[in-house]
Amino acid sequence: MSFVSHVECTVCGARHDGKRLLTVCEQCGQMLAVRYDLARVNAAVTKEALAQRPHGMYRFRELTPLDDGEEPVTLGEGGTPLLALPRLAAHLGMRRLWAKDEGQNPTGSFKARGLGMAITRSRTLGARGFAIPSAGNAGGAAAAYAARCGLPCAVVVPRGTPAAAVAEALIAGAHVFTIEGSIATAGKVVGQVAPQLGWFDLSTLKEPYRLEGKKTIGLELAAELGWRMPDVLLYPTGGGTGLVGIPKAYEELRAMGWLSGPLPRVFAVQAEGCAPVVRAFAEGAETTTAWEDPTTHAAGLRVPSPFAGRQMLRVLRDTRGGAVAVSEDAIRDAQRLVARVEGIWTAPESAALVAALTVLRDRGDVARDAEVMLVFTGIGFKYEPPPLAPPIALAGSDEEILAQVRRAVGA
Ligand SMILES: *Cc1c(COP(=O)(O)O)cnc(C)c1O
Repeated sequence: MSFVSHVECTVCGARHDGKRLLTVCEQCGQMLAVRYDLARVNAAVTKEALAQRPHGMYRFRELTPLDDGEEPVTLGEGGTPLLALPRLAAHLGMRRLWAKDEGQNPTGSFKARGLGMAITRSRTLGARGFAIPSAGNAGGAAAAYAARCGLPCAVVVPRGTPAAAVAEALIAGAHVFTIEGSIATAGKVVGQVAPQLGWFDLSTLKEPYRLEGKKTIGLELAAELGWRMPDVLLYPTGGGTGLVGIPKAYEELRAMGWLSGPLPRVFAVQAEGCAPVVRAFAEGAETTTAWEDPTTHAAGLRVPSPFAGRQMLRVLRDTRGGAVAVSEDAIRDAQRLVARVEGIWTAPESAALVAALTVLRDRGDVARDAEVMLVFTGIGFKYEPPPLAPPIALAGSDEEILAQVRRAVGA
């Protein structure tokens, strides 16, 4: 028995049976979310018992959709470090800055959580193959977890997707296809092909299980901060799984009485070249509209028409947060800054958060004494590095080499 009570449509509220393999709402076609019997969860587990369990995504198993005894398809995802960033905070003139370093997940990004959970759950419920449109990391993670359980996987990515993510999917034995356009074009292909193959469509938030994996970031953050929430949370926003998932974790814990007070103010961060959530938020719209000609080197942010725009905007409004777009140069500068002052080579998507924080600070939208959480969603190694000064080529006698080194280091 799991602690799932039912699966609910986030728009029309229609109830679905949690024991069936589900995609979108069968009444209205909108996004589904798993609901739990939180009173039963509360009776079954304590904070103290939880603290004794092994680290990882299934630590708080009662708040995942897994059945009793269900073996997860796992590569050790979750349990990533929560890092204080005192030097970056000092540099930015902020009081308290944290990063959840999701780049330390298997496959180098937080996509491991969502796809580990979705592949686990959908396989148990009968899936015999998977198909996914991706901007890079999701395809790599889906391929890895599909390989881990020996099932086939098709990955469709836009041409120009970072090479390491494509290689990651290929080496794991996935069927990898490229297409002209963006993840939206790739999504159309998957939507058409997956049902014909009888493979499960893992598109962002078009099934309810990836959300439950991403949600575990919020469960971990709550425990790691001593069962309290930060003032502000910044999230690099593509399809919005974590943007919807982390507040879902906080709300479930609050309903259980494990957390109290308001949720953090959630800010969506996007790139200026693809900012449908920022635009819709500024217009006070109910949902997003497609962004024409999306361009950004932060591949995970190149999502022109997210399926869950409505649900993301609801989170931003309900938490009195907001949405900010940053430039490509600001992303590259921030990526170098975070590596230089904290030693973290984070992905361009997460570097965008640091660029956005300076904007929010300057506008007075985020106070300097606020406690701010950054979700560092991926590792930098998987992308083309930002422009860097080249290494210095040494040559000559011992004395000449010493002189060259001295000149370079200024000592
Ligand atoms: C996918 C991805 C994002 C965007 O995440 P969503 O949940 O789709 O909004 C951000 N950063 C990285 C590194 C990603 O791979």
